[in-house]
Amino acid sequence: MKQTSLSRRNFLKTSLIGTAGITVGSKAIANTMQEEKKKTIIYRKLGNTDLVLPIVSMGVMRSDSPNLVKAALDSGIKHFDTAHGYQQGNNELMLGNFFKDISRDSYTIATKIHPDRKKINDGEMNPEEVKKDFLDRLAISLQRLQTDHVDILYNHAAGSAEDVTNEAILDALLTAKKEGKTRYIGVSTHRNEPDVIQAAIDSGVIDVVLVAINFKQQHNTQIKEKIALAAEKGIGIIAMKTMAGAFLDKERTQPINCKAALKWVMQDTNVHTSIPAITAIDILIENLSVMENLELTEDEMKDLQTAGLVAGLYCDGCNECTGQCRKGLPVHDIMRAYMYAYGYNDFKQAHSVIKDIGLGDNPCKDCDQCTIKCIRNFNIAEKIGDISRLSSVPEDFLA
Ligand code: SF4
Ligand code: SF4
Repeated sequence: MKQTSLSRRNFLKTSLIGTAGITVGSKAIANTMQEEKKKTIIYRKLGNTDLVLPIVSMGVMRSDSPNLVKAALDSGIKHFDTAHGYQQGNNELMLGNFFKDISRDSYTIATKIHPDRKKINDGEMNPEEVKKDFLDRLAISLQRLQTDHVDILYNHAAGSAEDVTNEAILDALLTAKKEGKTRYIGVSTHRNEPDVIQAAIDSGVIDVVLVAINFKQQHNTQIKEKIALAAEKGIGIIAMKTMAGAFLDKERTQPINCKAALKWVMQDTNVHTSIPAITAIDILIENLSVMENLELTEDEMKDLQTAGLVAGLYCDGCNECTGQCRKGLPVHDIMRAYMYAYGYNDFKQAHSVIKDIGLGDNPCKDCDQCTIKCIRNFNIAEKIGDISRLSSVPEDFLA
């Protein structure tokens, strides 16, 4: 196995620094690697879909590098996950430019559309407007991706059963599928996951659930039970947020063992593939090794146990704080932005989240006592005060 990793590392380096920067330096090496891959990669079928995927796919969200996508594709990764809103559309544009000359059946691609839930819930959009908005954004995504269809289209970031069963959104998803603009439809969730998965099952039409699952969530047993139920019903399960925030501290001095964390998730055979964020070649190489060997070493198990004892940066999405804020703030979303900023060091994504929820100047500064009881004992007011400072920073100033 060691030999495999070393060979692959060399291969990837060759692939990245070869002529034109992204071409494989030696066809012979590439062919050898192709054969090697067939023998060692673990594949799983995505529920009742006809997609059979390696257990590691690529979360493209925080990558703007076609070279990295090329290296992932060459290494055996087949599925690429993006969203309409990632990098203000540039993520889809980058993928579209990269894949435009590549055979459409050699990869699969998913995108996600986040309905404006605030406007929907406040009754500011009627069902026709909700459906039209969803399909209009899909049309833009397909244009950016330079394809006539995606393989999976998600209703993004559902946090309740109602978010899944909203008739206008379901209608938009089913219309897109009927018109051949997506092969499968899904829902993504990083909050209140058990209820969302149950609603996906009950809908009878959702093909795939993209779900936050990791070793740190206090309610991961309940999530895994629903995952098992959904998998039994033929729903494809894709894991995200497997890294649980990547770091335990804001100063980024205590990294989570992300490789061990990914193995922990993928040891559950009801989870068919995963989309860890791949942002650099060393992360790609690390994830490739998981694709071939899911066994946790003793050291890795210890790392997870130790990390599990610390609150860290990851908000469980447990829903316990929903409705507790005196000002009705979407605390979970703000904590997610905090994690993007300090755990992933991705201030742009954090900025995008707080912009989407309309967070401005620190809303907690005139609140004399925070009413929120967080299961992680997060100091919510302090974290909101910290991350809200981003709202006054022009996006162009962020790396
Ligand atoms: S301090 Fe902030 S988060 Fe806490 S209740 Fe007040 S406004 Fe809400
Ligand atoms: S902020 Fe705390 S209580 Fe609220 S969803 Fe996150 S972990 Fe749960």
